[in-house]
Parts: sequence; structure tokens; C-alpha cells
Amino acid sequence: MIRSLVAAVALTAVLSGCGTTVVNPVTGQAERTVMDERAELAEGKKAHAEVLKEYGVVKDERLQAYVNGIGQTLAKQSHRANIPWTFTVLDSPEVNAFALPGGYVYITRGILAYMDSEADMAGVIGHEIGHVTARHGAQRATRQQTAGLGVLAATVLGAVLESKAGLSGGTEMFGQMAQGVAAGYVAKYSREQELQADSLGAEYLARSHYDPRNMIDVIRVLKLQEAFAADEARAEGRPVPEGANWLSSHPSNDQRLQQISQNAARYSGSYASDGAERFHQAIQGMRFGESPEQGLTRGRSFYHAGLGIALTAPSGWRIDNEAEALTIASPQGDAALRMISVPPDAGSSHEDIIRNALKPSEGKLTRGTINGFDATHFVGTLPTRNGQGQPVEVTVVTGPKNNRFLLLYLSQDAAARNRAMPGLLATEKSFRAMTPADQQAARPWAIRSVPMPRGGFAELARQAPVPEKRLQLLNGTWGRSDPPAGQMVKTVVEQ
Ligand SMILES: [Zn+2]
Repeated sequence: MIRSLVAAVALTAVLSGCGTTVVNPVTGQAERTVMDERAELAEGKKAHAEVLKEYGVVKDERLQAYVNGIGQTLAKQSHRANIPWTFTVLDSPEVNAFALPGGYVYITRGILAYMDSEADMAGVIGHEIGHVTARHGAQRATRQQTAGLGVLAATVLGAVLESKAGLSGGTEMFGQMAQGVAAGYVAKYSREQELQADSLGAEYLARSHYDPRNMIDVIRVLKLQEAFAADEARAEGRPVPEGANWLSSHPSNDQRLQQISQNAARYSGSYASDGAERFHQAIQGMRFGESPEQGLTRGRSFYHAGLGIALTAPSGWRIDNEAEALTIASPQGDAALRMISVPPDAGSSHEDIIRNALKPSEGKLTRGTINGFDATHFVGTLPTRNGQGQPVEVTVVTGPKNNRFLLLYLSQDAAARNRAMPGLLATEKSFRAMTPADQQAARPWAIRSVPMPRGGFAELARQAPVPEKRLQLLNGTWGRSDPPAGQMVKTVVEQ
């Protein structure tokens, strides 16, 4: 979701520009645009800074240099070898990759963990390069302006600034649990653009001496993720999630697979090695899953070492840790406690914060403490356009190091709220400074490449903090037989 918001920053910035005509480097056709190459470079550069701030980069210069090297090789073979290219591994467990206009390409450590070779990774990067060379971001900006979507984009931009500054204008958010809809709309490429990026990715692979059929392997591995997520959800009696990875923003996978296979067949030739060994070496020790800096979930508890806080959810509740907020949702998903970090300039007292953040029309404050930390509970009404007012309930707490947090009580309706109230209160009460036991539980995980032992993933899983099937998924063999003993495979270790 952050990806969409950030992309919107780049797009809204140029909406004021008037149209001009450029030649598309891929098709050779002239196209009317609000974003010429200079604007692409300038807006991409600005948004790049936002992306780095929002996600953070993986602090491993060797890995960054490796990924950048492969990216530069592919970009040199692309339709826009002339622009400066930047490739960055983001410190995010999300399985994702994306690009901004002007040659900025991002790949998360989350997606790298599931790749099995350099050629796989090159497939993902090649696809993203394709979005840039074919000017898909610029086309989207132009479409938006033509369709008069400036207002929507501005709304999304508002959401970004809000999560940065924390609060102002946040009232829209309280009623609705999902604010990603508009953002997703703004960020989506068309189906044709996705298929074009696939085809360009395969082309760049082939020109860089990687077998373009690796595009197919990438899709297969990511498709497996969707099946795995669906399987887990069913096992836990949850609704099957709509994919949230790189793949889900893309066209029907079967159609995609078919088209890539056709494309790949056009580039039959002899290719260099798929670089599996180099790749395994490069991701050795790379962090897996959430990081302590961004907060991590272990069982029913959430730990944030940087902020020094921990919370524990009631049994059956779900913890969702996103950059802009931590959400602990009821088993039915119809109520949640959402924790937002309050920026220092949001107000000096709890009352100020509530007034500035919510702008309530009326309400009642109650002072208290949570595990020794000053807390102020507020129940009141927010003004709405129709004049009816919207109920709001929130607690502001000052935690360790004087960091302030807003704990919002969210629910779909009054019935859901009543049902969830004991859980919401219990969650709030669990807010605490991290104890030594919490610190022990909050150790991060890392990827390690090892030769497959004779006992297969079952044997590796005995030493790993994740179950056997997760290791199978990580290695793309879930639902298949294990690779032979001695072959290099990835496992997960506690740091
Ligand atoms: Zn794409």
C-alpha cells in the first residue's frame, strides 16, 4: 500500500504541468504526455527520497552492489540505456518490487528470499525496467489528469502526508478499516501495461544472456505463494486473502504464464548459467520476515525494539504491522485497535494531541495509566458533513523515551464494537515497556543457505523458527518432493 501512496506523490506533483509530446522509447510512437523525460527524472528523484524514508534500505552494501550490478546490466540492454538507473533493495518483508518514473527500481528483501537464482531476480527487475522504459508511470499520470482524477490523487497524497505528520485530517480514516482502495486505483497499471512489462522483461533477460524462461519460474514461485496463503487461511478458518504480493497487482497468472512462454520461445539460444550459487551467496545472512527496527510479531505479541514497547493480542486476534500503523484486529475482522505513533509536533499534552488529531465536536477525557505510563482516554464525537457526527474512542499514551501513541478503537458498527470491547481493552492494557523476556522473544530471523541434509526440510525445520512447509515454500518446492541431499537450499535461523 505504501508503494501506491508514494507513487502518487510523484504523480500529483506534475498534474499542473501542461501537455507535451514525446516519443515512446519502446514503441517508437509519439504520445501526448504531462510528463516528459526531464519531468520523469525530476519527479522520480523526489519520490525516491520518499521511498527510502518510508521503507529504509537493507544495510548490506555487498548485497546492494550485487543487485545494482545485475540491474545495470539489464538496463544497458533496455530501450532506455541512456538514463541513469538506480536499483535498491528495500528493508521490507513484503513480497514486492516496483519502479518509479525516471529509472528508479526497487526490490524488497521479502521477494529476494523467495527467488532461487540470479536469473529469477533478473526476471523481476527486468519486468520493472520494462515499466520504466515503456513510460507506464508517465502514461498513468497523463491518464489521471485527462480523466480529471487530480482530486483523487490529491486525496491519496493527503494520506501520505498524514501518516508522516501522523494525524491531521485523519478523521476520514476512522470509519473505514481499509483506506487502500483509492490508493490502489491510482497506482494500478493496466493489464496491457503489465503484459508489456513481462514481455520486455523476457527480452532484457535474453539480451543479458539469461534464459527468458526464468520469467516463468518467477511467476511459478510467486503463484505458489498465493496458493500457500490461501491454504493457511483455510486451515485457520479465515477468508482466503486476495494476494498482496507482486503478482496480485498483475493480470491473470495463467494468461501471463502463457504469454511469457510464447515470448520466451522466441529467444531460444544458449544462455549463461542462472547464477544460483552467486545468488545464494549474496543473500546469505539476509534478514527474513519483519525487522526489529520496524517492529515484529511473534505469536500473539508485537515487539518494537526501537520504541521499546510490546503489546499482546487476545487469542484469535490478528496483528498487522504496517509502516503507518499497527492494527490488532478481532477474529471476525470487524473491529480493531490501531496504534499510530504521534509526531513530536502534534501537541504538547494529550489533550492537545486529541484536539489536533481528531478535531472532535464534543467528548469526555479520562486520565489514567497503562503499566505505569500516563494515558488519556477520550470518548466523543467527530463532526461529519451530514451533521450527524461520528462516534470516536481513542487513548493517548506516553510510552518509554517519551514517545506518544494514539490507540484508536475501530469497529464496523455498534454490535461489532460491543462484541470486541473486552478484546480491545485487553490489548490496550497489554501496552508495556519491553521486558528482558520480550527482548529474548523478539530476536530477528535470517536466511541461511545450506546443503540439504538427508532428512530434508523436516530435519532443517527442527532447528528453524518456521515450520517445514514454510521452508518448502521458501525454496519453491511446496507441494513437491524435497530437493536431493547436498543441493543448496535456503533455511531460516534465529539471530
Ligand atoms: Zn508490473
